[in-house]
Amino acid sequence: SHTKYDPQNVFAKILRKEIPCKAIYENDFVLAFHDIAPQAPVHALVIPKNPYISYAEFAERAAPEEIVAFTKAVAFVAKELGLSEGGYRVISNTGKDSGQEVPHFHMHIMGGRPMGFMG
Ligand code: 5GP
Repeated sequence: SHTKYDPQNVFAKILRKEIPCKAIYENDFVLAFHDIAPQAPVHALVIPKNPYISYAEFAERAAPEEIVAFTKAVAFVAKELGLSEGGYRVISNTGKDSGQEVPHFHMHIMGGRPMGFMG
């Protein structure tokens, strides 16, 4: 995409610790925290520390070790949050038609209830 990363987006501010979050896990590449408006009993977000607007940009531009770290962090966080047995959903909204609101790539992890088809 030719769109430029907005360093004032809310997740950039969280990464700079300008606004607080309920952190769950962090390593060199990723930060995981609880969603401020949970849509399920467990609703976490995992974000890369580097500035990618969307899943598409992350997939194109991130280094292989960053993609591996991110993928493993999502599963690790789900397990830490107690979702291994009941299961969980991972979703990333990318771009206009998806309804993506925050223009910093993030993966939603939702669980703790039966999730239904898309809700
Ligand atoms: P999107 O619609 O972009 O896929 O999802 C953005 C998510 O970020 C939403 O689920 C929303 O509740 C969450 N969110 C927005 N602002 C904040 C915030 O300041 N703190 C946290 N923890 N989550 C936020």
